[in-house]
Formats: sequence, structure tokens, C-alpha cells
Amino acid sequence: MREGTARAIIVLGSNIERERNLPEAIRMLRRAEHVRVENVSGFYESPSVGGPAGAPDFFNAAALVCTELDPKGLRAVLRGIEAVLGRERGDDPDAPRRIDLDIAYYGDSEFDLDGWRIPDPAAITEPHVAIPIAEVAPDWVHPADGRTVSEIAEQIGRGEVRPVMAIHLNSPYTPRAPEDFDDVVDVYAPRFEGLVREQLVEIGEDPDREGLVRTPLRVAKAMDFLTSGYSTSLEEVVNDAVFDAEGADEMVLVKDIEFYSMCEHHMLPFFGKAAVAYLPKGKIIGLSKVARIVDVFARRLQVQERLTNQVADALIDILDPHGVAVTMQGRHLCMMMRGVQKQESAMVTSAMRGTFITDPRTRNEFLDLAR
Ligand code: ZN
Repeated sequence: MREGTARAIIVLGSNIERERNLPEAIRMLRRAEHVRVENVSGFYESPSVGGPAGAPDFFNAAALVCTELDPKGLRAVLRGIEAVLGRERGDDPDAPRRIDLDIAYYGDSEFDLDGWRIPDPAAITEPHVAIPIAEVAPDWVHPADGRTVSEIAEQIGRGEVRPVMAIHLNSPYTPRAPEDFDDVVDVYAPRFEGLVREQLVEIGEDPDREGLVRTPLRVAKAMDFLTSGYSTSLEEVVNDAVFDAEGADEMVLVKDIEFYSMCEHHMLPFFGKAAVAYLPKGKIIGLSKVARIVDVFARRLQVQERLTNQVADALIDILDPHGVAVTMQGRHLCMMMRGVQKQESAMVTSAMRGTFITDPRTRNEFLDLAR
């Protein structure tokens, strides 16, 4: 883990439309920039603590995240998710709520965040907080208490907390003990899945027929992957793979980089190969990172020209080299499958910066090598 990143444990709770709000919140956390979700617990049901008589039971869960944000920044992300899901923070801390996201632990630090104690004191007193935490990060040590969170959960006991469902999200999450749960359900992105279902109806399909029952779920997961570039920061991709290289002044070229993107006009794939070159000015980057940078911009809705320029500009930002050149050759399914149906046509785009513009010899050397 590089400097500036921390692990934190987030606890989530909902007792209004909880089957929907809890998965939505987890999905939004996964798509938040500078936050990477490493593990999510199953959902646990428990009576409302201190709430009004007859208040609906809660679903609780926990998520282990890795983040570049400081506690204030992380909490701002959590408050943003709450706002989108319609949480109103009133005076009564025990009122029923659509969604509640709080930082339970942040690294091995102990501090006060505007009146909130971190670690959350409830993490050592309340089973509905301690149990999901013990599921996502069993070996995590409470910085003041000295026990692991598993020991804490074991010693508090289950109380009235019942495991209700493991979220079966395939990778990267595997519930630690799915056998503890009555039900393993595919809950991922209820709202998104509902929209895909409607789309199936619109095209005249029966979303309940056997082959399509799980299609909305699959589409939601696939689209999240194919558009994951929106929530991936260049810093996290580059990490610390930029190296000082005094005296390195030869062109660095990476070619035949496969890319897969989707055109923003039809949301159909376009794909092909990229060649990326730069003339270093004291800094070089790990070769595999060049391909990862292409992915960050390819995994969005794109036009090929912009994609090419964004890759070039990113390398300028990261390396401040003498120059950068990028060419991309792509085949667009929106042209191949529909419209003009020119099956063989490929689109070639290029972006040149610095010496690749000013020095024809450098440019020609690149174009020769990249061919
Ligand atoms: Zn298109």
C-alpha cells in the first residue's frame, strides 16, 4: 500500500426500503472515486435500537475499503451517497432512515471527527455493528481496545442480530460464511436492473423467460465494468510506477495495446489497438501502466478521437516528457452491424504533443515503429 492510502471500515444501515437501499449504497460506494471496496459483508437484520415503538427492523452491513481520502473526504463521499438515496438527517438520531453510512474504523487511528468518535464506540458495544465488521475484516485490530474485531464480535454475542442474506456478487466479493445465511441472493443494483428489465419489455421480450431472468443483473454488472473508468483515478492506476531516469532520452514505445470501449452515440462497442510513445525528460513509467491508462479512458462512453487525446494528455500530465504520440486503430460495431455496414473499415486517430509535432524526424520514427 502506498503512502497516502488507508483502509477503513464503513458500516451501513437501513430500515426504509432496506432491500433496495443497502445494495444501492454499496454499488455507489464501489463507483465512488478514490474509494476501492475490497469486501462487503452479508446483510444482518436487527431490531431498531432506541427507535420509536414499532419502528421497522434494520438491515446492517459493513464494507472494507481502501481510500486515498482523509476521514473528512471519505465522510463527504458517504454523505453524498446518503443524499442521493434520499436520507434526511434530522434531529432524532434514532429515527427510521433510508440509509446510514458511517466510518467505523479508519486505519489504526483514534480521533474525533466533528463530534463523531472514530473508532465508532458502537463497534465494541452493539452486535449489529460488530458482527458485520467481523465478517469483512476478521483480523482488524481495534486500536485502543487491542482485541481483533472477531474477538469483539464473539464476546458481545449475537444478541437479536440475524444473518438474512449473503450478497452474492461473484468476484470480487465472496461472503465469508454463506452457510450462515438463510438466503444467498443476487442483489446488485436494483434500480439499474429495473431499467434493463423495462428495456427488455420495450423491445418485445419477456423478461421472465428462463434465459432472461438474470439478464438485468448481468447487464448491470457488465456495464459497471465497461464504464469503470469514470470512477478510476489516474493516481490509483499509476500508483508509484513513475521512475526517475536521468539521461534516458530515447523514445519509449508501447504498441499493440488492445482497447475496448463503447461509442457514446449508440453505446455499442468499438475496439482495436493503440500505440503510445513518449520522449522522456527524466521520468519514465512502467510499461504495463501505459495499457492501464488506456483502459481508464476506454472504459467510458467515448468517441475515438477524444479517447486518443485523453491518453496523450494523461501522459503529459504524469511524465512531463519532451513529447507524446498516440495512434489508435478501431473497428466500430455501430458501423459494422448497422448503418452503412462497412465491415472492413477501421478508424485511425492520432494525437501528437511536443517534439512529435515540432520534429518531423521524431514523428516519422514513431510512425515507422508503430506500424
Ligand atoms: Zn456509434
